[in-house]
Amino acid sequence: MSAGASAPALVEQLGLFCQRWHRRRASYRPAGEVFDPRYAVELTATGTLNVAPSTAMPRMPRMQRASRGRVEGPTYIFRCAVCGKTINKKKMDGTLNAHKNKQGYPCYGRYGMYVRTKY
Ligand SMILES: [Zn+2]
Repeated sequence: MSAGASAPALVEQLGLFCQRWHRRRASYRPAGEVFDPRYAVELTATGTLNVAPSTAMPRMPRMQRASRGRVEGPTYIFRCAVCGKTINKKKMDGTLNAHKNKQGYPCYGRYGMYVRTKY
């Protein structure tokens, strides 16, 4: 039986191979730059922290412009065809919103006749 004789040689070869492999590995990656799993944890921790406030952030206040607040330009005066009430509108649009007639009851008139433009 000569099978057991080659076993120590194999172990020695394996040991040499491991030594060379470790030396090569050490040359590739210096001991000071060993991968630290803490960095991965910190990266994921900051990642989740960055995501959470961004989704909960309120909208940018600059997106809202107060251009619709000021009333400018001419006023178009319409008179309801049903009750004769004059209605001032900012648009040249004769359709009227719900309003009340002179008796205080809701008027069914939904269209106004153009009277004049007030500048
Ligand atoms: Zn009316």
